[in-house]
Amino acid sequence: MIDFSTLGQRILAGQPATRDEALAVLTASDAQTFAIVDAASQLRRHFFGNKIKVNYLVNLKSGLCPEDCSYCSQRLGSEADILKYTWIKQDEAIKQAQYGIAGGASRVCMVASGKGPTDRDVERVSKMVEGLKDENPHIEVCACMGILKDGQAQRLKDAGVDAYNHNLNTSEDHYKDICTTHSFEDRVNTVHKAQDAGLSACSGLIVGMGESDEQLVDAIFSLKNLEGDSIPVNFLMPFDGTPLAGTWELTPMRCLRILAAVRLVAPEKELRMAGGREMHLRSLQPLALHVVNSLFLGDYLTSEGQSALEDLTMIRDGGFEVLGAEGRDLVAEHQEFVKAHGVNLAEETGAGSTPCGSAPGSGCGGCGSAGACGPEPAATPTVTPVEIGIAEADASAGVVLRKRGVGTQTAPNA
Ligand code: SF4
Repeated sequence: MIDFSTLGQRILAGQPATRDEALAVLTASDAQTFAIVDAASQLRRHFFGNKIKVNYLVNLKSGLCPEDCSYCSQRLGSEADILKYTWIKQDEAIKQAQYGIAGGASRVCMVASGKGPTDRDVERVSKMVEGLKDENPHIEVCACMGILKDGQAQRLKDAGVDAYNHNLNTSEDHYKDICTTHSFEDRVNTVHKAQDAGLSACSGLIVGMGESDEQLVDAIFSLKNLEGDSIPVNFLMPFDGTPLAGTWELTPMRCLRILAAVRLVAPEKELRMAGGREMHLRSLQPLALHVVNSLFLGDYLTSEGQSALEDLTMIRDGGFEVLGAEGRDLVAEHQEFVKAHGVNLAEETGAGSTPCGSAPGSGCGGCGSAGACGPEPAATPTVTPVEIGIAEADASAGVVLRKRGVGTQTAPNA
């Protein structure tokens, strides 16, 4: 019988959590969960104090992927009604990143769909990163472009990229059940390529995809053994139009136990509550901040997150501080931003231009796409950003698709 109340202190004293202890955390009862959160919280406080690292996603290229990852709205054959567009231009990428930076993000994650980049893609993203860093030298950039070929990680590193994200997602023996077009080993190899080039490795999970508790423990220990620096934990968002549509396996209390298990096994890693936190942790999100030390602000790649103002308020109310924004009142700053910009932020995002920056109706091709430019933007909503998030979403509401930010004329949810 494991005494969860002393587990945190034992780990801090130099006794790493075992597989059996991680399994016991995952299989614990709801009544035991707050003792587990307390144990994880001791580690979180020890390594990260009351700081929260805020990350911001920019989706550089959305949908149109030839891979078949069953959880992904951008996969081959996905019928999810997501925004689809090919590479956005450098100016647009930097403009979008600035929204997250204004909201307190100290890391911008530049993401592109696809199995992996061509050398031309790497060059394109390298130029974007150089441009972003010229204007924001203090901001970290993480690239996420899929499976890397030899030399590509080094080019990104040379351009100023700080980190590379490539998630293991699940355990090795569960991987073939969620994807057939590439392997778990492919993913491990890419993380190693990034590390060999001196990039900080970010690799994490998607939970709630039919994995057993034992498989989840395997995946957590695989991540520990990878020796990356950050671990994002995504909670499956079961998009309609994907094979995992209708898969609702998680409860808020189970999400807390999963996050705690990762913290206990890998106590000194940046642990991020990532996609799906709103719909799965729901009202327990503030409690999760006592386990994790990182989150994504605003929207995800193809779905809506809760508003940045809700995120910043949650962080402040919990007594936490945004890393790199110490002494600033980000809630007040953001309220001022919303007040100053009113209900229509379209001008701020370049209303009247397409995602690639060419004028509407001028014909596509300027971005090098084969006519795969984003869909006609929806009409600008007449609601304020704070009314938009999915804080009230639950399983019955499904996944709210992103119709803001890149690929639209509407300001991002940040
Ligand atoms: S996770 Fe990446 S590789 Fe897999 S289908 Fe989605 S965009 Fe493609």
